[in-house]
Amino acid sequence: MTSFLTHRTRVHDDSLPLHRRHSALRTCLTVFAPYGLRATYHHLTLSAAIPRQLEADPDALVWAVEELHEARVLWLARAEEYAAQRRAEKRAGRRAVPDPRPWWLRSWWESPNRAWFEDPFRHPSLRLPEYVRRQNAILDGAEPPGCPACGDDGLPVLSSTGHGWVELCRGCAWVLAPCPCGQRHRFVPETPFNWNEIWQRAHMSDDGTPNSHWPAG
Ligand SMILES: [Zn+2]
Ligand SMILES: [Zn+2]
Repeated sequence: MTSFLTHRTRVHDDSLPLHRRHSALRTCLTVFAPYGLRATYHHLTLSAAIPRQLEADPDALVWAVEELHEARVLWLARAEEYAAQRRAEKRAGRRAVPDPRPWWLRSWWESPNRAWFEDPFRHPSLRLPEYVRRQNAILDGAEPPGCPACGDDGLPVLSSTGHGWVELCRGCAWVLAPCPCGQRHRFVPETPFNWNEIWQRAHMSDDGTPNSHWPAG
């Protein structure tokens, strides 16, 4: 059985070897990852300060899964509300899915946050519960200032698609203005990444701060 809560318990279980607790965190991320699996993992390594050597701070895994859990509780409540609302709409004969779709039902390749799936370093720096609260508020009609995802209000960064320009949030690479052709384009990471290195936390030091010697060269 691969439920989130079962694996959350395993992350907490200090009778298990650390690598098992770490892979339980990964399983939780396959169930719920607001920034996408890889970017959410990268975010958690920073926010929970997961050291390169897990032995240096086993509690960091607990902080990470608790941040994820807190965000998931907020999401679940909103998703259940949404499901109930949809059932009522269907009973009233309104079958079409409302546009825009709620944030958790967007497909990543069509969504303005596509970059987070193509470059695990690009994601908001908000704690996950804060991000979920912000997205839920937008779904309820709020219009918070700045980038819808991260709130950054700096000038957008222009990115060429070869035949046009896309305006991206400088903070999280959210698409603020799409390419005029109407298509969603691939996001090419500035520095090529190696997922295995990120998973092994090559970007972190043993004291839980970012590794200043990475990437080498
Ligand atoms: Zn942003
Ligand atoms: Zn285009």
